Amino acid sequence: MSGMSKPKCVIVGASHAGTQLALSLRQGGWEGRILLLGDEPVDPYQRPPLSKGILSGEKSAEQIPIRPAAVIENAGIELKLGHRVESIDRERKVLRLASGETESYHKLALTLGAYPSTITLRGSDKSGVHYLRKLADVDQIKPFMGIGKSAVIVGGGYIGLEAGAILRQTGMSVTVLEALPRVLQRVTAPVVSEFYERLHREEGVEIFTGALVTSIEGENHVERVHCADGSELDADLVIIAVGVLPHTRLAAQAGLDVEDGILVDEFAHTSDPDIVAAGDCTRHFNPIYQRRVRLESVQNAMDQAKTAAATLNGDPKPYHALPWFWSDQFDVKLQIAGLSQGYDNIVLRGDPESGRSFAVFYFQGNRLLAVDAINRPGEFMLGKKLILAEAAVDKSRLADESFPVKDLLGA
Ligand SMILES: Cc1cc2nc3c(=O)[nH]c(=O)nc-3n(C[C@H](O)[C@H](O)[C@H](O)COP(=O)(O)OP(=O)(O)OC[C@H]3O[C@@H](n4cnc5c(N)ncnc54)[C@H](O)[C@@H]3O)c2cc1C
Repeated sequence: MSGMSKPKCVIVGASHAGTQLALSLRQGGWEGRILLLGDEPVDPYQRPPLSKGILSGEKSAEQIPIRPAAVIENAGIELKLGHRVESIDRERKVLRLASGETESYHKLALTLGAYPSTITLRGSDKSGVHYLRKLADVDQIKPFMGIGKSAVIVGGGYIGLEAGAILRQTGMSVTVLEALPRVLQRVTAPVVSEFYERLHREEGVEIFTGALVTSIEGENHVERVHCADGSELDADLVIIAVGVLPHTRLAAQAGLDVEDGILVDEFAHTSDPDIVAAGDCTRHFNPIYQRRVRLESVQNAMDQAKTAAATLNGDPKPYHALPWFWSDQFDVKLQIAGLSQGYDNIVLRGDPESGRSFAVFYFQGNRLLAVDAINRPGEFMLGKKLILAEAAVDKSRLADESFPVKDLLGA
């Protein structure tokens, strides 16, 4: 077969899912062209450090490639960066780019990720008000950081709390405003939220829950944040971290099935047999939990990308991975295995009210759904194994720390 007639795969979105998909596609035997196209003007980089080592300055952008540039080059993957895809013509199999250029494809992969939910209120467009999703966002945030300056974080989810922890550690005074009654409300049990509120307070971060921001004030630059209860907070920097939304516009306009995420089946197929999708932009049926989920995690981006690549290589394998996630705040590493939604009872191992190490096991009846392990890598591994094995768990032993983790596996 001549080079010209080999099929060409275009992957749109050059981050965790896109880069993994490209590499797995080549490793799995794809012989034609692979074009990895992304709108950010920089080589694919890891996103989690943006609210961790990159924000603190401990790491530089060069230190967080998703894979070394040489690996991508040696796999014969063409990178086209700083290019936004504007539309997909599925009939002619052509992409139109914002630059006016076009790219044809035989197979298309959408790894478009997610973007921050925005809030619109008076002053939210002022200088010093930022979102945190891209390397470019951190570049914009950096000039407003500094010892003794004040930061207000709107949103007490993982990204807001991580950013708050880092800003505090760099010497800023930090306030986190959460609209709901507790931080991390959507994703954890009250006991974990309470732990994180205590942790942040111990480290000098102010946390206000049930706090609604009404306006952001200041001459040109942000100076103060006003809340619905009349309180006012000084701020040199505001970071808004109120969740993300999947990039679905491109897919929806092309007529693909979309429902809070691009709908994909267990092989990462969209409703068009020549188009796959993976990562934060998708919604899929999870066989472990028997329901559709939209995940925002590196694990899902990478594993689903591998599934999509296998599908494109004609070697389909159903996606059957246990979701896992992590978050770093101060000296605490949280590791989560599984999805806790729908739990009706929990088992605690360790004491959440003092110290910084314990685990929460989430059950529905006697079925283990998930574990939140706080500075407990052993319990994280245990949880992963028990969930996947659908093993019966002796709850009293699980709660009893005199039984070592390794003895609980067969219990
Ligand atoms: C600050 C922060 C901290 C995080 N921390 C963690 C963590 O600790 N653990 C964890 O598991 N996850 C974490 N996450 C989530 C994790 O980063 C995401 O789940 C992961 O990046 C998803 O990868 P993705 O490739 O699906 O999407 P993305 O990383 O969002 O990448 C999609 C890419 O596609 C590009 N794109 C979109 N539309 C177009 C278009 N039309 N044309 C061209 N390009 C386009 C986007 O600009 C982007 O570059 C964090 C995220 C953030 C923002």
